[in-house]
Amino acid sequence: MKLAVLRERRDAEKRVAASPETVKKLIGLGFEVIIEAGAGEGASIPDKQFEEAGASIAKDLKAAVKDADVIFSVQGLEAADAKHVKKGAAQLAVLNPFVERDRLDAYAKAGLMAFAMEFVPRITRAQSMDVLSSQSNLAGYKAVLDGAAEFGRAFPMMMTAAGTVPPARVMVMGAGVAGLQAIATAKRLGAIVSATDVRPAAKEQVESLGGKFVMVEDEETAAAETAGGYAKEMSDEYKAKQAALIAETLAKQDMAITTALIPGRPAPKLITEEMVKSMKPGSVIVDLAVEMGGNCELSKPGEVVEAHGVKIVGHRNVPSRLAADASALYARNLVHFITPMVKEGELAFDFEDEIIRESLVTKDGAVVNERLKGEK
Ligand code: NAD
Repeated sequence: MKLAVLRERRDAEKRVAASPETVKKLIGLGFEVIIEAGAGEGASIPDKQFEEAGASIAKDLKAAVKDADVIFSVQGLEAADAKHVKKGAAQLAVLNPFVERDRLDAYAKAGLMAFAMEFVPRITRAQSMDVLSSQSNLAGYKAVLDGAAEFGRAFPMMMTAAGTVPPARVMVMGAGVAGLQAIATAKRLGAIVSATDVRPAAKEQVESLGGKFVMVEDEETAAAETAGGYAKEMSDEYKAKQAALIAETLAKQDMAITTALIPGRPAPKLITEEMVKSMKPGSVIVDLAVEMGGNCELSKPGEVVEAHGVKIVGHRNVPSRLAADASALYARNLVHFITPMVKEGELAFDFEDEIIRESLVTKDGAVVNERLKGEK
């Protein structure tokens, strides 16, 4: 069994889908591991460390994937490279399936068996494979640091001989994995933190981290959470009530960290230009949802913009800004996913298994995932 790890090609992607630790684990499972030259550079892992862990280095993508039975990467093969892969090979990556449908068609055409790691169900058994959680957790932490770097004030209250520095007020919108880590990080830095969500279940989690929970609670919120634990898109009536609450709270904040997402839909717009205007000069907004359309009307992907005296941070791919840790966790997620598929040194996928069924997107020449039906 050969397993290839690709060098990432997309802009601002510094992560890698393996670490020396996971290479050793994969070899232990019976794989021969081939790393594309330079794959670990962005995450501070030189080829030599992969070699010392037992991998061999291939000079380019074509050489790496030739004869590979399994391909690991972060962002997935580009459509044009799918033809270099052996028919029936499995690929594990984050594939952005709702947006990059053409790429899936290219995979299907090439006979690839592609798994979209973001489709792995959020069930207890799959927690160790959950790339959304491992990466969002780091993104939530980094968002606060990115915000702090743009903020011309301190976070903690400081009582000094020259007078008292007041604590920063931080509001986190969307209290999922990234939001909860943002709350914890802002608290650790000494801020006064509040948070909002549409799922009532988030209240207890926010409060357990020392945050104040603010939300519009009505009959709609009782059904705002899907069976998978995600938020649904809310009605226009709810959105209007929520906007009034956010407008009132935001004007008193120094920083907003926004993380609100709805799977397969554009991010909900929670901060309007009017609300930005109401914030104090020098305030900061960090929009972690910027690549899904943004939670703030004024955020721009890949940019830090200033509007009405407020800085709006829209870094893309925030997990990649912590490439070493993000890679180490992502690489472990992939090993946890592939481990049960190896039986006595052979690959054996159980297509009846919920985790496999929900994450498999292409097989036997077709796009096969239920969630993608009706997408084209
Ligand atoms: P996400 O990234 O899809 O969304 C981030 C947050 O934004 C969510 O909390 C969501 O409720 C919130 N949100 C959406 N629309 C909003 C709006 N209009 N206003 C305010 N907030 C809004 O979510 P996530 O971080 O991936 O977490 C989703 C769920 O999965 C959570 O319930 C989490 O606890 C759960 N989870 C379960 C497991 C598991 O293994 N059991 C693992 C990870 C996460």
